[in-house]
Amino acid sequence: MNASRHSEALLARFLRYAARGTQSDAAVADAGTIPSTETQRKLAEDIATELRGLGLTDVEVDDNSYLVARVPASPGLEAIPPFGLSAHLDTASDAPGDPVRPLVHRDWDGSPISLADGVVLDPATDTDLARRKGDAIVTSDGTSLLGADDKAGVAEIVTLAEILLSDPSIPHGPIEILLSPDEETGHGMDRVPLRKLKSTAFYTVDGGTAGEIEAECFNAWKVDAVFAGIAAHLGSARGKMVNAVSMAASFVSALPAQESPESTDGRLGYFCALGISGAVERAEVSVFVRDFDIDEMERRLDRLDAIARAVEARYPGGTVTLTRTRQYLNMKRRVDERPEVLSILEEAVRRAGLEPHLKPIRGGTDGSRLTELGIPTPNVFTGGHNYHSRTEWASLAEMIQALDTLVELSRLWAERARDATIRN
Ligand SMILES: [Zn+2]
Repeated sequence: MNASRHSEALLARFLRYAARGTQSDAAVADAGTIPSTETQRKLAEDIATELRGLGLTDVEVDDNSYLVARVPASPGLEAIPPFGLSAHLDTASDAPGDPVRPLVHRDWDGSPISLADGVVLDPATDTDLARRKGDAIVTSDGTSLLGADDKAGVAEIVTLAEILLSDPSIPHGPIEILLSPDEETGHGMDRVPLRKLKSTAFYTVDGGTAGEIEAECFNAWKVDAVFAGIAAHLGSARGKMVNAVSMAASFVSALPAQESPESTDGRLGYFCALGISGAVERAEVSVFVRDFDIDEMERRLDRLDAIARAVEARYPGGTVTLTRTRQYLNMKRRVDERPEVLSILEEAVRRAGLEPHLKPIRGGTDGSRLTELGIPTPNVFTGGHNYHSRTEWASLAEMIQALDTLVELSRLWAERARDATIRN
């Protein structure tokens, strides 16, 4: 299928969603309120109304602003197990995000795009952009981010629903839609209405460049180190005082510099001291530990223990206590248990005319949380770029390829189910 005849509908929908500032608020979400902002709730409700207007009857927005909708199967395919598509309603708070005034640069001529506040999108330094000459490029006006992360994904999913409802030539099984709040705060799956979901696999539509698939993310732990020292009058401290500030500094400086976020990329993991505070009697350091490999993660956690013991040896009388908190797990293991989930997505990308490119995520996603909750959830591209910044942009041609991929995905799930390769 070529979704290009839906390109104006997709673009209009994307512009409409992007123009609505729906930044989430980490402090509010950290305190347990989901959604963290009312703008997200309003967008969820408006999209629910829009979906009902397209003809969907099974559409619900719950108290936490999770929108769950079901696209009914083509006649005769009702028994096929459903799969789900998910995107997030909020935008990041790393750059201004409300208001957003999207601009469309049609038939872009390949020259630098100058926006307000001196913001320039330069194809000389942005190789993805350089490849899109002649395309329709969507940007903000320069005063804010664009919010293609993840309004592009939301617009593609809603447009897919519109296509499937209006075009009987695409045989498909039942499809679940989940639009969720607060992905950017890391609380996107905290209140996910799991019991409502019937799908045994989901796909987040929240990636970037056309063709990219993400089915692997970091394993992530946070380690909080507490250094207990012994205070004494500084004039008579000799042999008595144990300085927790020095202990903390010695701990941080023992972290391997070559294994930090700023000196690693690709598949390399890292340690990152993220915060430090304290005084002579007590100091605290928090460390993020990341690795794709779970055994390597164990090694990293053991290494922090060893560093802690070395600090204690160097500061007799002082103690170091480490507390480990697991943040999320690499989704790869669970995704590998259901190989068809990924292979169908790869095939859908190929049918959309692209070569699938598997890329490890140096972070976590809603999909990694959903995978941990038992629903394998790889991530697929949307056609957006330079997320979380004023230079964020989206390519309409890539967004159409994303939409094509979703159409093919719908078709393939039905085909494979008929071939009985999909396990329940
Ligand atoms: Zn996103």
